[in-house]
Parts: sequence; C-alpha cells; structure tokens
Amino acid sequence: MQQTTFKKNKPSRNSNSSAPNGNNGGGFKKRFNASPRAKKTSNLDPNLLIKAASITEAVDFRSNIEFDSLPISDALKKSIKAKGFTRPTEIQDKTIQALLDGRDLLGIAQTGSGKTGAFLIPIIEQLLHNKRKSFALIMVPTRELASQVEDEFRSLTKGLGLFSSCFIGGTNINTDIKNLRQGAHVIIGTPGRLLDLSNRNELRFNSFNTLVLDEFDRMLDMGFVHDVKNIIGKMTNRKHNLLFSATLDNTQRTLIDQILSNPVTVQISSGQSTGDNIEQDIIRLQHGQDKFEVLKNMLETEEFEKVILFEETKHKVSKLCQQLNLAGVKSDQIHGNKSQNARQNALNAFKRGEVKVLVATDVAARGIDVSDVTHVINYQVPMTFDSYIHRIGRTGRAGKTGKALTFV
Ligand code: AMP
Repeated sequence: MQQTTFKKNKPSRNSNSSAPNGNNGGGFKKRFNASPRAKKTSNLDPNLLIKAASITEAVDFRSNIEFDSLPISDALKKSIKAKGFTRPTEIQDKTIQALLDGRDLLGIAQTGSGKTGAFLIPIIEQLLHNKRKSFALIMVPTRELASQVEDEFRSLTKGLGLFSSCFIGGTNINTDIKNLRQGAHVIIGTPGRLLDLSNRNELRFNSFNTLVLDEFDRMLDMGFVHDVKNIIGKMTNRKHNLLFSATLDNTQRTLIDQILSNPVTVQISSGQSTGDNIEQDIIRLQHGQDKFEVLKNMLETEEFEKVILFEETKHKVSKLCQQLNLAGVKSDQIHGNKSQNARQNALNAFKRGEVKVLVATDVAARGIDVSDVTHVINYQVPMTFDSYIHRIGRTGRAGKTGKALTFV
C-alpha cells in the first residue's frame, strides 16, 4: 500500500450531521467535474469521508435483565437461548415490554441493533397464545432485508408450529400465490410485490392485526411512499403498529403520525447509527498510479478479510468483479440485474468466507447484515452523504470496529 497516500484522521467530528457541502473541497470538485461530458459526479467533500473510529459503540449497553426473566413463554425463551442471545440489546430492552402491552412503537434504530428481534419476539409471543393466520404483516424496503427477517423468524420459531412467507420482487409470483394459499402467521414482503398479490385478490390486507414497517426512512427514500400508504389504507383491522427507522426527520413526521397511535418512542444511543465505530479514510491516487492495481494490492493484504466493494452501476460491478477474479482475488457480485437466487447465493458464499470480496451497487447492498465485514471500499465517491453512511454501515457491526475506504 506504499504507493497510496492515506490522508490520516483529519477530524471531521460533526460531519455526520452536516449536509454535504458542495462548496468545500474546490480542488476536488474541479478535478471531478473537469470534463464537460461527465455525467453525474459526486460533490461530496472528501474531508467528510475521513474519521477515526471511537470505541464507544453498541457493546456499551448491557441490559439489566436476561431473556429468562422476561414475561414470555418458556418455548420462546428456549429458542432465544438456542440462538445464543442471553440479554436483550438496547432496542429490545427498551421496547419488548411496551410491545407485549400492545403499545404502538416508533423505534429509531438501525439494522445491526437487534431491532428484528425487538419486533419479532413480541409477535411470536402473541402468536403462541393464539395461532392466527395472517396475524402480522412486516413490510421492508429490500429483498435482502426481507430474507434476513424471515431467517430470524424461522430460527426463533423452530419447532413452535408457526409459519412465515416472504414475498419479494424478482421471484416467481405463481410460487408466491401457492405459498399464500397455504397460509402463514407472519407475512414479510416488499411493498411492490405485496400490492401485486393484493391486486390479484390473493392477499387480503384486512386480515392483519399487526403492522411492522422496517427501515421506514429507506422505504420512503426508495419511492415506496404511495405503495405503503395504499397498503396501510387497506389494513382496516390494523390494531398494533410498529415503525422502525434509522433516521427521523420532519418529512416523515406527518405520515408517521397518521400510522401510529399514541406510540412509545424509543431512540437508541448505542448501535451502529453514528458510524462512530468505523474508521473512515480516503485513498488518493498518486500521479500515474493504476486504480485497479492499488485496489488489488490492498485486497491481497491479510487485513482485508471480508470486503464489500461498491461500484456505481450494474455494468461496472460486473466488470470489476470479473477483473478481480482474473487477478486471483475471489469475488462475487450483487446488483439489480441478478436474480434473487443469484444474489442470495453470492451473499451466502460471502458470509461463509468462500469469497473475499462482494462487489455491489448501493441498492443491492441495502439492509445487508454480515457481522464480520472488515472493510467497505467505495471504488467511486458515492453520490450522496446518505448513501455513503448507508454503505459504510455494512461494516463495524455487532459491536465490532470496521474500516471504510473511499477512492477519491
Ligand atoms: P438486526 O439489527 O435485527 O439486524 O440484528 C443484528 C444482529 O444481532 C443479528 O445477527 C441478530 O441475530 C443479532 N442479535 C439480535 N438480538 C440479539 C441479542 N439479544 N443478543 C445478541 N445478538 C443479537
């Protein structure tokens, strides 16, 4: 890595809360907007992308209670134990009782905080008392998050006679229809596919008692607002509402007020939401350096164990992945042109450590939760700071520290 200039830890303490300032870093802007034919380029100030990790993250929180002492069924305690969970995470600690009491919830927490358990445990507990089909509808923005929620549900309900179905775009809808007809206690899905099933008169939203909206901010970001409103409008027997968002701003407020009724609001201080446990740095290429060579040399060092590498377009992801494999760096890819199966296989191979690098586009990587990602590398500067924060949040999870590097 000697040929690379790493600008070290220039403090940008408050950078997370400030909007990216397109006027800063004039040299950077000039360099990247030099060509009149250049299409979209990022105006992000590279100084925002440098930050030392501070070790004050999730592990700070230790709940005073153990799952064993919660007022939940022994069968559920057993499956929680089987997953290796002994104490609730902060979001779980602060929400489970209120949810068991039937309160609506506004939870400000990110993926990585244990929020899935926070909403699934109370839902499973209620289902154990009354096994009603189509009891809870869990709406999420991405296919990957849907699969993760379903995996967590399955592992928490092993042997309990409770079933889930997952409906996401990019899969065969006829298979979904067959699944739907079998009936499930919990249905997880992305808004588009759920609406599609409802429009075909296969899914009836009015049967659900409980609504969970997960990663609500991202759902709005991705343009699902009308679908979400439409679905909620059809949930005429909705009694219990849980909404989780990584961020909370005024643009969401009106809609949230329409969805939730007298909610308990819980904002967690721990977890990965601030990126504090992620060391962030930039890589400035020196004159004459080949970008791919710099990347390859980095990836060949031992430290880079499990890497998510971001590229801007599907085509560029494919190309970069191919180049890496040819250079002997085991890589796989996820992007919108890949089938759901192909994406899941790539993700599984990455989780198991069979490939070192997962090359991804922004959208494909949303919601990915792999606990031991050592590095996130941005091969290009992301278009927005929000996108940057979301990308780097793929590392530094579950109380670990991670590194985020951006080529500028
Ligand atoms: P989530 O934020 O729901 O995506 O969860 C992040 C990770 O934390 C997942 O791998 C969960 O299985 C794990 N997790 C959830 N609850 C607990 C807990 N109480 N103790 C330890 N790990 C947990």
